[in-house]
Amino acid sequence: MSYDLKPLIYFSAIVTYCFGCAVTTIADNNPLRPNHDSQVQTVVTRNLATLDLPFNLSHGGRFPSMDQSLALTAGFYTLSHSAIGHLWTQINWGRYDTLIEKTLTIISVTLFDLSTVALPLADAWLHEEWHRAVMNHRGISSFNDIYYLDLFAEMIAVSHVDDRDLVRLKQKYPAEQIRLSEAGIEGEQQLVLKLERDNFFSRKNAWHYFLYWLIKLNSLSYVVSGNSTEVDELTDEFNQKEGRNIEVRDFTGHDFTAWVYDLHRPQEAYQKRGIHPSGVGLDRYIKFSDLTSDERIFLRRQARLQWLNLLDPYLIGLKGGRIPTSTPLRFNLSLGHMLTSFGYTIDTHLFLQRGWANLFIVGHRYFNHQRHFSGLEIQLIDYPLNWSNNRLLVTSELGVWTQPKAQSFYTDRASLGGLFALKIYRLLSDRWAVFLGGKIKSVGWVAGDISLDQSLTANIGLAMTR
Ligand SMILES: [Zn+2]
Repeated sequence: MSYDLKPLIYFSAIVTYCFGCAVTTIADNNPLRPNHDSQVQTVVTRNLATLDLPFNLSHGGRFPSMDQSLALTAGFYTLSHSAIGHLWTQINWGRYDTLIEKTLTIISVTLFDLSTVALPLADAWLHEEWHRAVMNHRGISSFNDIYYLDLFAEMIAVSHVDDRDLVRLKQKYPAEQIRLSEAGIEGEQQLVLKLERDNFFSRKNAWHYFLYWLIKLNSLSYVVSGNSTEVDELTDEFNQKEGRNIEVRDFTGHDFTAWVYDLHRPQEAYQKRGIHPSGVGLDRYIKFSDLTSDERIFLRRQARLQWLNLLDPYLIGLKGGRIPTSTPLRFNLSLGHMLTSFGYTIDTHLFLQRGWANLFIVGHRYFNHQRHFSGLEIQLIDYPLNWSNNRLLVTSELGVWTQPKAQSFYTDRASLGGLFALKIYRLLSDRWAVFLGGKIKSVGWVAGDISLDQSLTANIGLAMTR
């Protein structure tokens, strides 16, 4: 569920106008139009069409995967924001050209993001699709209510889910059931990181700042909202409105009361939630009053940790530093907090570019109930290679971690894991490329990877470069 979107939108809009726009305008001295710098290398900015295997062929065909919806939403914002920015550069405004172009771009992008947030392909769509992907992975069917196109809906549900499927999911895959509730904001957080990475490595200036604020404040206030009796009032209201009609019910209600509840009770059968107040079906939604004091304390800690997501230089338009060595080194650094299947992670993101080497490094500090664990992921992005007259770009990822054994919240035992991924793009022109990729990973939670188990995945597709 995306919770109570309207007040969050207004709140985000005000905060952004007060801080984001003003500060970015002052801090960002570069013109908004793309900078045609001959030093800039080719970077893939959009994966247009992909086939994700085995996801797309499992359970009679499932779409979109986490990767596919992320690529679609990132493409939606990159294209729209770039087009809006480009539009205003077509007019010569005279003496204050750059200032007027920037102001008009900021206003138009902000209005665009506010008015499209609940449309297919935009942010709320991605949020729901990531919930759906977790269910699709186990063959559970659902419907994304975004397609009803109700722009002012009080909440948007993932509906048409069968109670029996939720019972089975919790019984057979309790860690995935926990992941299911946090997957929505996981997708949104990955969207921000992807747009930031694309801008950093391709040196594009697409104006995404309002979206960054919108997503980060929305996630923060959604997690905060789990700690109040207001959840109970809204839950009663939804339960009454939805009545005996199981099909219209959301799969979970408030994402984070459900997340913290299942995290603390992995062995409890789903049926223990009881019977729906209407007498038909199970009572899926977890209220604040259903939580123990331990669960409330843990959720309150998550709300506080969400503030770490604001420690991000991009929010105030800072694109990073530059060390003027013989080959200049560019860098940026941000922090992130995400909920996981076993607890949470606090991540450090390091963006590095030197010569042809684009490196994105994530240091993880994972936490469950007992202790902390560590992990490191290094991505080499779009490294150019020539191989028998083919122009190639190579993207590779290596990860290693310790995470709680069996993804358990209560264990103090660690299990070692890792992943290796390789994706090769063959450039067809300056604009187009085709790609082939594969990934092997061991047991573990990785942001944006549907499987908590060992997995071997492959994808092929068409991409656009800058
Ligand atoms: Zn949700």
